[in-house]
Amino acid sequence: MTTVQLRGVQKRFGDHVALQDFSLDVASGELLALLGPSGCGKTTLLRIIAGLEHADAGAVWLGGVEATRLPVQQRRVGFVFQNYALFRHLSVAENIAFGLRVRPRGERPPEAKIQARVDELLGLMQLGFAKDRFPAQLSGGQRQRVALARALAIDPAVLLLDEPFGALDTQVRTDLRRWLRTLHDELHVTSLLVTHDQHEALEVADRVVVMNRGHLEQVGEPQSVYEEPASAFVHRFLGEAQVFDLETRGDAVHAGPWRLPGGSVPTDAKRVLVRPHDVEFVAAPDSVSLEVLQVRQVGPSARVTLRPRGTQGPALVEAQLDHAHAVTLALEPGREVPVRLRHWKAYAD
Ligand code: ATP
Repeated sequence: MTTVQLRGVQKRFGDHVALQDFSLDVASGELLALLGPSGCGKTTLLRIIAGLEHADAGAVWLGGVEATRLPVQQRRVGFVFQNYALFRHLSVAENIAFGLRVRPRGERPPEAKIQARVDELLGLMQLGFAKDRFPAQLSGGQRQRVALARALAIDPAVLLLDEPFGALDTQVRTDLRRWLRTLHDELHVTSLLVTHDQHEALEVADRVVVMNRGHLEQVGEPQSVYEEPASAFVHRFLGEAQVFDLETRGDAVHAGPWRLPGGSVPTDAKRVLVRPHDVEFVAAPDSVSLEVLQVRQVGPSARVTLRPRGTQGPALVEAQLDHAHAVTLALEPGREVPVRLRHWKAYAD
């Protein structure tokens, strides 16, 4: 088992700062997801941990040993990338055995041991049927399982997964991420999973790191990052949110059609963010009356667009609730209904 520690890692490509002052501790046996928009530095960070890229400043520690200058071969990291990267001319079994066969003679396990390890991994990955097939004879999901088996064959101290399910369709992707979580619970290899899919990160990881333009915005357990975002950026990145600019009128602070309770908004706050499922249809002292403009069924949910009667323009409110609940409330265009905010969060950024 191995910890990963990053201390003040910096990386530039020309004028572009890919990583700035990046520090992170990954616990031994943890499955950590790196989440962030395209170009925020996720892959660069994995490549630096692997030793495929070198940081301009800062340090990488693996298992309590400084590894900043260690070559790739000495780091015991396993990789899985998005695009399979399997050897087309090798069978599944030979692909899995590859990392063991290329070891220097003194370190290479005997043939019987290699075969046993390959069989063990084929079993673990539920790929026994595919042992003698070639990559072209497998589905995308099966190829990714071979790639994972190949990465695990060398008994890595750290497993780096870069969008491993990115090229797969939604159903296979969902199945594979659940399976990865189960596998991780059995093996407990310290793992970093890069993804741009927040559902994937929130569902499988022990902790998530949200990155933005080369720096760490927030790290924490999935539910706490989702419920208590440290910034408007994290709030928006981890799920749909509508933005209401704050307006002070007299003593009161308003967000869209709502007047917020006195003292509930920090003085430096500029806007509040609200998730559509936190817009609630109940009559309460803090409700306002809004006109239903549109109701759309989306699978088991209903999406409702509302606005204050008599207003035009963009002061729209978007709500989401169970479709059955929307039917019970008889939400229909033209009706006026009381609406309140169950939960909202104010930000200065
Ligand atoms: P994506 O989700 O799109 O894969 P990412 O978060 O993994 O993005 P990186 O691949 O780490 O992002 O890239 C971070 C930034 O550094 C990007 O702006 C990218 O263009 C730049 N970059 C990465 N590698 C190089 C390179 N070898 N030379 C020049 N610029 C690079």
